[in-house]
Amino acid sequence: MLEEKIAVVTGASRGIGRAIAKELALKGAFVIVNYNGSKQAADETVNEITQAGGKAVGVQCNVADAAECEAFINNIISEYGRIDILVNNAGIVRDNLLMRISEKDFDAVIDTNLKGAFYMTKGVYPLFLKQKGGKIINISSVSGLTGNPGQANYSASKAGVIGLTKSVAKELASRGVCCNAIAPGFIATEMTQALENDALKDAIPMKRFGEAEEVAKLALFLASEHSDYITGEVIRIDGGLAC
Ligand code: NAP
Repeated sequence: MLEEKIAVVTGASRGIGRAIAKELALKGAFVIVNYNGSKQAADETVNEITQAGGKAVGVQCNVADAAECEAFINNIISEYGRIDILVNNAGIVRDNLLMRISEKDFDAVIDTNLKGAFYMTKGVYPLFLKQKGGKIINISSVSGLTGNPGQANYSASKAGVIGLTKSVAKELASRGVCCNAIAPGFIATEMTQALENDALKDAIPMKRFGEAEEVAKLALFLASEHSDYITGEVIRIDGGLAC
């Protein structure tokens, strides 16, 4: 399905990013598995892909650093000649009530979750114009749609990702580029490990957390030709939480 495609997945050392990297690779894409600090975990992602017959390479880059992102994208283009799919997945939380959020923690979340997606998108933008095609998939969150107490910084970053997605979609639609967002609810990963309890599950209409692999299947759809007429869309995957 994705043979000959080059895909970049940020924050693919674990969790949702790892599942997306595996899904795209097993459908034929060559995947650049990005990570920041977790080299060993990124190596595990790459090993799992290669052992299953896919192709991938791990590349370090801090998405919150503009210069690193520019060099990261340019190196990929000079090495592989093209990029077809960009998944902006890298993200962090620094949860607290707003009155206790320091400026440092507000900035850290915006820099990684929102500006990271901006830097990476800016990197591929001229290439996608030239190629007259490309898929950008931004991982937002239901927190960005509904807000969430204790997550003012995170919700602001994820709402920003939705604005970024829709603007880029409109700028690049006539050039055959699709830009969409995925808004997951509670997905079982390291990020949500401490939250998983029966009361929270009970608040979800489907009574369970989602699996990273379920998000990956949605990302595959948005990365594939099956979604060629979809752009500027935000798709919730949340077991009915925010419907
Ligand atoms: P996770 O398990 O904590 O993994 C986060 C990933 O992001 C790691 O691979 C981490 O790699 C990478 N990362 C963090 N900061 C980075 C940076 N500055 N540069 C490059 N990579 C960086 O999180 P997850 O649950 O899989 O979440 C993935 C995405 O889904 C995030 O954007 C998150 O906000 C979003 N999301 C998650 C949920 C959920 O319930 N889990 C719900 C809604 C949205 P390093 O360790 O190498 O830094």
